[in-house]
Amino acid sequence: MSNKGKNVKVWVRIRPTPEFAHDIIDLQPDSKTINIHCKRDEKQGVVNNQILDWSFGMDGILHNASQEQVYQTVGQNMVTQALEGFNGTLMCYGQTGAGKTFTVTGATENYRHRGLIPRAISQLYREIEDRPEYAINVRISYLEIYNETMFDLLSSLPETMNASQGQQMTIAEEGSVVYVKGLTTHLAQSEEEALNLLFEGETNRAIATHSLNKQSSRSHCIFTVHIESRSRVQSTAKYTTSKLNFVDLAGSERLGKTKSGGKTQQEAMYINKSLSFLEQTVIALADRKRDHVPFRQTKLTHCLKDSIGGTCSTVLIANVWGEAAQIEETISTLRFATRMMCV
Ligand code: ADP
Ligand code: MG
Repeated sequence: MSNKGKNVKVWVRIRPTPEFAHDIIDLQPDSKTINIHCKRDEKQGVVNNQILDWSFGMDGILHNASQEQVYQTVGQNMVTQALEGFNGTLMCYGQTGAGKTFTVTGATENYRHRGLIPRAISQLYREIEDRPEYAINVRISYLEIYNETMFDLLSSLPETMNASQGQQMTIAEEGSVVYVKGLTTHLAQSEEEALNLLFEGETNRAIATHSLNKQSSRSHCIFTVHIESRSRVQSTAKYTTSKLNFVDLAGSERLGKTKSGGKTQQEAMYINKSLSFLEQTVIALADRKRDHVPFRQTKLTHCLKDSIGGTCSTVLIANVWGEAAQIEETISTLRFATRMMCV
């Protein structure tokens, strides 16, 4: 596949705004420009009749989009490309409550509300059936990064997870391949097996959240589909491998808003650091000098090193609210998204 000239595609997904709330978002007919307008007095505490306007250009906007539409727009292609041997990464960025987990995982109890991962899994096995001339193995891993410590959501008992010790995992590089040493990968021979692994990981994520007394919104979660494929017709064919990552990033909200105890402050520090290095990494990738990209600065960017930029298809979804009360975080998320657009 050719390099499409742009490393990262940036989409905005706007949560449905409740009827009683004042909507601050205007979409331009090109469906690529998002305008935000608000009167100063709609922002809490500030009384002044000045109207504030912002405009952001994106690769596309998902407004009132169903889970299926979101999948068709940003997910479908990546699965096909992964089967063709290209790595891909799909990330959701935004403040807590903006719909990142809904977008990535979705509501598993409601079929219509399934998110990108279950839909991708479903398409993956359908496409594998269409390729009988290939022997294809699928393995799944599920990694959580909390305060720069990595946790395997598909391995140890969550009760033994301890924030200070974590699990002994390190990121290793072999040539251009990056992997997490100690992270388990699980063979999934069917859609059902893969979905069960997703559910198991989700359960462990919830339990770990509880036992560490942390909020799940404070960690990054990376669900990875590892694909290994070899031609059955050519006897000398080697295995080609590829990875597809689904990343549910930690909430991007700034600290000032929440109570800033010591622990919260530490979490915020780690999140700020990893999100800002994610941004720097993506921006540096645009220079096409991969040795100057600060991948190793944080666990998040390091373990995605072989899966963003270059020939990898990378999609960033910026999840936002469209109502006045959230305007500051919405603007901050759209600014981040715009900086990624410049790549
Ligand atoms: P985040 O992971 O960004 O903190 P969530 O995905 O948990 O946010 O979303 C918060 C709540 O809003 C959840 O109850 C979720 O089901 C709901 N929600 C988010 N986005 C949508 C949407 N597009 N349509 C319907 N419900 C949504
Ligand atoms: Mg979430």
